[in-house]
Amino acid sequence: MKTEKKGSAVLKTILFTEATNENIEAAAEIIRRGGLLGIPTETVYGLGADALNADACRRIYEAKGRPQDNPLIIHVPDSTWLSRYCENVPESAYRLADEFWPGPLTMILPKKDVVPYRTTGGLDTVGVRCPNHPVTLAVIRAASVPVAAPSGNTSGRPSPTTAADMVEDMDGKIDGIFDGGACSVGVESTIIDLTCEPPRLLRAGGLPLEELQRVLGTVLVDRCITQPVADGEHPRAPGMKYRHYAPKAPVTVVTGDGEKSADYIARHAQQGAGVICFSEYRALFPGRVIHDLGPEGDKSEQARRVFDALREFDVTGVPEIYAQCPDDAGLGLAIGNRLKKAAGFHVVEV
Ligand code: AMP
Ligand code: MG
Repeated sequence: MKTEKKGSAVLKTILFTEATNENIEAAAEIIRRGGLLGIPTETVYGLGADALNADACRRIYEAKGRPQDNPLIIHVPDSTWLSRYCENVPESAYRLADEFWPGPLTMILPKKDVVPYRTTGGLDTVGVRCPNHPVTLAVIRAASVPVAAPSGNTSGRPSPTTAADMVEDMDGKIDGIFDGGACSVGVESTIIDLTCEPPRLLRAGGLPLEELQRVLGTVLVDRCITQPVADGEHPRAPGMKYRHYAPKAPVTVVTGDGEKSADYIARHAQQGAGVICFSEYRALFPGRVIHDLGPEGDKSEQARRVFDALREFDVTGVPEIYAQCPDDAGLGLAIGNRLKKAAGFHVVEV
């Protein structure tokens, strides 16, 4: 792969394609020596480094162009690692881990001193998750340190869901990328803050809110999930205040019954416009550039495709984009949130 001159540093990005012991060991060695590694997870690809090494974590921010106060999530191989890095771990954290780890759930807990402030963006809390991907679990175990990893995109770009997406953003800027196949979930982890009572949902993601309610009872939903963050507001998940990925063309999200939203879009989208629609309605948009979000009833498929849809329209250069949107149940909350953020919360209800 290409090498890039960045200041005086020249980095050759190694692409690991097979999960052999030798490759796992070489990837773990990158982490141990303070390097940067693209890691596959079930949600999106992450940009990993030793979470206990402040200098390595600083390089994550540099490679992504990420604001310094936007904290990193640390990845562990199982719940026995929670008490190494977190203070006062409540019993509810272990219940959630038993139910949903490895899986797309990040818990916010008070951090121990061993976790550098560089990793947590200056916060006294830390986000912890156990990803459901054999390669990354093996790399973390071999490295024997937790791996801090935000999504592997350049800040402001959509999250990468294949190794090729990550190569596009990070080739020449990091030490290696481990290709573990396409992500099976496709949206980021759900984030639950366990430092408050009742617990609070900070980001809708790959684990539906209803699943958390089943285990925890009452869960508050932070307002930044459903509304734009105002200037000067400090949301509990600092990342939520940053402009998320938005295609260059203006996006309008149309919520409500599928037939009605398709009809609205068919009447309003100009020729050559981009349309993100459910498979059933494709034929209604002749002369427009279509990105199929998947069948109306299959939210898992929609979650896998949503970032792809947003990425693709920048390449095709459409003048405007309209998107159908699932309801809020299950994964719909996360899919709708990503679409609405890309639209700057420009939403039409039909
Ligand atoms: P990314 O990994 O790029 O998807 O971003 C991680 C997200 O987790 C960001 O929105 C952060 O603001 C959020 N996050 C990480 N650690 C914490 C924490 N200690 N408290 C609140 N939010 C956090
Ligand atoms: Mg991200």
